[in-house]
Amino acid sequence: MAAHTDGGGEASARRDLAVRAAVDQGLVGGADSAEPLTCLLDTAGIRASAAALTSAFAAALAPGTPVLHAFAVKAAPLVPVLRLLADAGLGCEVASPGELALARAAGVPAGRTVLDSPAKTAAELREALALGIAVNADNPQELARLDALVAQAPTGAPIGLRINPQTGAGTIDALSTATATSKFGIALRDPGAREWLVRAYLDRPWLTRLHVHSGSQGVPLALIAEGVRELHALAEEINEAAGRRQVDTLDIGGGLPVNFASDEETPRFAEYVAALREAAPALFSGAYGLVTEFGRSLLAKHGLVLARVEYTKTTGSRPIALTHAGVQLATRTAYAPAAWPVRILPYDAKGAPKSGAPVAQDVAGPACFAGDLLATARELPLLAPGDLIGVPDTGAYFFTAHYGYNSLPRPAVHGFTVGPEGRVRFALVRPAQSVEAIVAEAGGALGDALL
Ligand SMILES: *Cc1c(COP(=O)(O)O)cnc(C)c1O
Repeated sequence: MAAHTDGGGEASARRDLAVRAAVDQGLVGGADSAEPLTCLLDTAGIRASAAALTSAFAAALAPGTPVLHAFAVKAAPLVPVLRLLADAGLGCEVASPGELALARAAGVPAGRTVLDSPAKTAAELREALALGIAVNADNPQELARLDALVAQAPTGAPIGLRINPQTGAGTIDALSTATATSKFGIALRDPGAREWLVRAYLDRPWLTRLHVHSGSQGVPLALIAEGVRELHALAEEINEAAGRRQVDTLDIGGGLPVNFASDEETPRFAEYVAALREAAPALFSGAYGLVTEFGRSLLAKHGLVLARVEYTKTTGSRPIALTHAGVQLATRTAYAPAAWPVRILPYDAKGAPKSGAPVAQDVAGPACFAGDLLATARELPLLAPGDLIGVPDTGAYFFTAHYGYNSLPRPAVHGFTVGPEGRVRFALVRPAQSVEAIVAEAGGALGDALL
């Protein structure tokens, strides 16, 4: 019996224990009577990532520097996750009324919440200012709305502007926020932009922050750090022109990429801090408070999808396993497989790691379109009906960003902890969506509306 260890030994050992326990405790299984699909979150892993983030910055920052690590809620919009992170000292970065409501439901205070979004309504802005939530404006028209709101009712909410440093793309176009023509923020290198920005701050003493979020999956650390260096240089220029430290806080965004190829957690937060120290050493001097907004790098490695292989067949001499995990959970993988490859960990029906001679096979999901594949010609022990597949690294933007194709239900999410004797305890984080709920959300009570 092979254990699925491949770097990150402790986490993978916890994972294998959790898979076995999930089957034993009836959360998922290979038998026809069992649940065909569930999702797991490794609570200890999430805490370890939060601690790694906090300590990497604390080790580099001048003592006493104010710092807020705001978790990007879109990466894992689950109230118990937000509360766990809050318990570990983190706040929330939100970008919609729904995300703000989740942060509030998790008990995250306004003063530890940051609102970013390129299309905030006037009502959202008014609410944020009234609550004292930090706001990063995306564009001059939004700034004009803030002018009006601040004139109506002075606010204690910290307000900043988001810039696009135009430092260039990473390997995934759809996730590159710092291209010359990105939709986000005010483009720093466009003609006249720098002068406009400095003037905007001098005219508005209440603008005290600057924001950039230039990293993401596929963006090298040095390129992310270059965006932060540009942010710091602009803050210095504004403060110089103002003759005072008007900009007092830099929000450097998130965007640390994640390794989807093995259990190794790389790059680490400490490596990113090292890249920042190299690109912008003054960032850590204590002259500015810091806000960060990490999402994927805090959660991705700690999520696992577990799905039953329902059937297998061979088509055009290629073996195919038809499973319950597909586009509804791994939307990006199905539509952009080259950019979003996932590992497939084979388990038998009892939840033990499955070994066997590798055979190239396709791993397909349940949805009715041909591209609903998690892996193509992947070398794995030949999967059989009743086996389970584990899809690791799915704690951010996968099962927490459900895609409602084919009315496939949102699966349950369970957190797990492993006790001293290897005893696994599960805690329900999100119940599975019921068929009744699907009908209700699809206008079930409005059946006659179009007659
Ligand atoms: C998505 C997003 C983040 C988080 O990005 P990750 O790649 O998940 O770390 C942070 N800030 C903003 C403004 C975002 O849009």
